[in-house]
Amino acid sequence: MKYISTRGDKAERSFCEILLEGLAPDGGLYLPMTYPKVDGATLAKWRGLAYHALAFEILSLYIDDIPAADLRALVAKTYTEQVFGTPQIVPLRVLEPGVYIQALSNGPTLAFKDMAMQLLGNLFEYELARRDQHLNILGATSGDTGSAAEYAMRGKKGVNVFMLSPKGRMSPFQQAQMFSLQDANIHNIAIEGVFDDCQDIVKAVSNDLAFKREYRIGTVNSINWARLLAQVVYYFAGYFQATKSGDEKVTFAVPSGNFGNICAGHVARMMGLPIAQLVLATNENNVLDEFFRTGTYRVRSSAETHETSSPSMDISKASNFERFVFDLLGRDAGRTRDLFKTELDRGGAFTITKDEFARIEGYGFVSGSSTHADRLATIRDTDKRFGTVVDTHTADALKVAREHLTPGIPTIVLETALPAKFAETIVEAIGREPDRPAAMVGIEKLPKRFEVMPADVAKVKAFIAAES
Ligand SMILES: *Cc1c(COP(=O)(O)O)cnc(C)c1O
Repeated sequence: MKYISTRGDKAERSFCEILLEGLAPDGGLYLPMTYPKVDGATLAKWRGLAYHALAFEILSLYIDDIPAADLRALVAKTYTEQVFGTPQIVPLRVLEPGVYIQALSNGPTLAFKDMAMQLLGNLFEYELARRDQHLNILGATSGDTGSAAEYAMRGKKGVNVFMLSPKGRMSPFQQAQMFSLQDANIHNIAIEGVFDDCQDIVKAVSNDLAFKREYRIGTVNSINWARLLAQVVYYFAGYFQATKSGDEKVTFAVPSGNFGNICAGHVARMMGLPIAQLVLATNENNVLDEFFRTGTYRVRSSAETHETSSPSMDISKASNFERFVFDLLGRDAGRTRDLFKTELDRGGAFTITKDEFARIEGYGFVSGSSTHADRLATIRDTDKRFGTVVDTHTADALKVAREHLTPGIPTIVLETALPAKFAETIVEAIGREPDRPAAMVGIEKLPKRFEVMPADVAKVKAFIAAES
């Protein structure tokens, strides 16, 4: 399998060439040249597989430059009961008839980003050792990405992590998770700004090709293809748990921010997984919901970006969205570049044509948004009627999922975090603290290790240069 850029760069790259990269040199995102098709017989064969074995089957369709035995060993060491808490890794539970919750959040940082990041840590260590190289990972996080990356990379040979986060905007628990890490290869940088300021710094550094080369800058943000690929696996695993045969369809409801998670659902669907609909849920930051309702994608300014109680979805633009638009436009790289470069740079917005908009239905996407009041109501109602507490992001997805239920087609709501990460809002909703896993009790009291910096690209570069 070879990979191409959404903006038309002619080079075709192999998996391990793009593994350690962020954006393509032309500013686009990498995608496989084609989506391998999975037929009914293959689905039937995969149905009984353990998670790590399923992951191997799917990954090996996209990775042909790691020997099969090595890839098998890497996924087997990643997806263990010890790390993810259950033998199923992503267990499904019934909420009510026709509505399931798929737990993606039982990894080390209690959020779904561990699903991809734990694999990435092992892939990076493997590939860097093979090349006898080192890498400085630069990332931006509004919470979950950063902690997942740090827990995946801590102590890994050949890797340093520089993680930018918006100062004071993460929950105390998220902050404690990240800032309490004392590993020498982990560097936390609190930026005086919002998440998008952090993301812009990462982009600016990555676009400085000379700096990027000299300091061997890499990324683990959700634009990384390997991360997205790892997430494709749990759509298959969820499908197999909710169905008895490959003739059945399911719908997935996905709490969305940077469009990474649901883009993996899109890839699974393009491969032939019988997905009826992909229900995209946003919070008050409804850039994506607006696009799927109107065909207009309008990036928000920092001032227009709301700080919400589902903070991992507080985005003003969705960094993976270009991948879907590229497919929607029939993989027309010129048109994709016009929209994402020319039009966004000029006016901060673009509108696709009526004909282009009409194609969305064929890709199964529908959308909706949720507010703080909706979130509280959903958490309260779910606790009262079903005795289960969901986190704030999952609540957004559940709320929107209910607006799109189809009789006869089960809906799987992706649980992207445990409620313990967002205790303040849980208390507001149900009047009591959510359960916290024993290993996480009291982490807010641990000593913290982090730097504070203004939103200044030059300062961040200087820090990387000094510490790498
Ligand atoms: C990152 C995150 C999301 C959003 O996922 P995207 O891939 O950015 O769309 C939703 N919920 C939680 C808990 C997250 O950490």
